Amino acid sequence: KIRVRGLKKSFGDNEVLKGIDVEIQSGEVVCVIGPSGSGKSTFLRCLNRLEDITGGSVVVDNFDVSDKKIDIDRVRQHIGMVFQHFNLFPHMTAIENVMLGPVQTKRATKEEARATAVRLLDQVGLAEKADAKPASLSGGQKQRVAIARALAMNPDIMLFDEATSALDPEMVGEVLQVLRDLAKGGMTMVVVTHEMGFAREVADRVIFMADGYVVEEGTPEQIFGSPREARTQDFLNKVL
Ligand code: ATP
Ligand code: MG
Repeated sequence: KIRVRGLKKSFGDNEVLKGIDVEIQSGEVVCVIGPSGSGKSTFLRCLNRLEDITGGSVVVDNFDVSDKKIDIDRVRQHIGMVFQHFNLFPHMTAIENVMLGPVQTKRATKEEARATAVRLLDQVGLAEKADAKPASLSGGQKQRVAIARALAMNPDIMLFDEATSALDPEMVGEVLQVLRDLAKGGMTMVVVTHEMGFAREVADRVIFMADGYVVEEGTPEQIFGSPREARTQDFLNKVL
């Protein structure tokens, strides 16, 4: 569960988040949509304090992320994050990439980590690519390895920032299918996406951000079917 109250974030004099209030329940799938520069990535990065918070509070599973004194590494172990660019280690095979986190943090022995990695690579449809290096994988395959790597830490929450934006169109579907399966499995997910079809189909709730604010939130039916705010309508007219 995530509770965000009055979240503000500035870079210098540029106030990028101007007071965000959001609650996300366990098992909920929330898609965040909005124009470029509206603060979606910054919002996501504040949830695991990849950005220092300027004001307000962020509480994740009863850990006060906004409290400078907490052990943020411990909190981050509960939160998986997948970015647009996969950042796999190029000199390691797919399975070694997936094993690395649990072994480095001493959460698992090498044998345990390998067993988990085999299971996760199978879950994302890449069992046969376990020993492949990233350079020999397609974009969609690399992104699925990156998702498996995040899942290897057994997170309670998964954050996705435009996980399909860097992919060739024919590979978007296979990655979205992995997200769909995760959502069905009850994972708590916050998904920043340009894929309106996905948001409509998979989200329990859609948040529309513009200019550092949450302008509107609601069910996909409400946001896509009958948006209340003019800015939401404008945005949807442009992207749909
Ligand atoms: P997009 O859809 O293009 O990814 P976004 O909604 O994710 O956009 P953000 O990346 O959160 O938007 O950026 C919001 C604003 O914050 C932008 O004006 C951006 O220039 C600024 N910003 C983001 N990160 C930094 C940073 N590290 N330093 C300074 N300014 C930043
Ligand atoms: Mg972004």
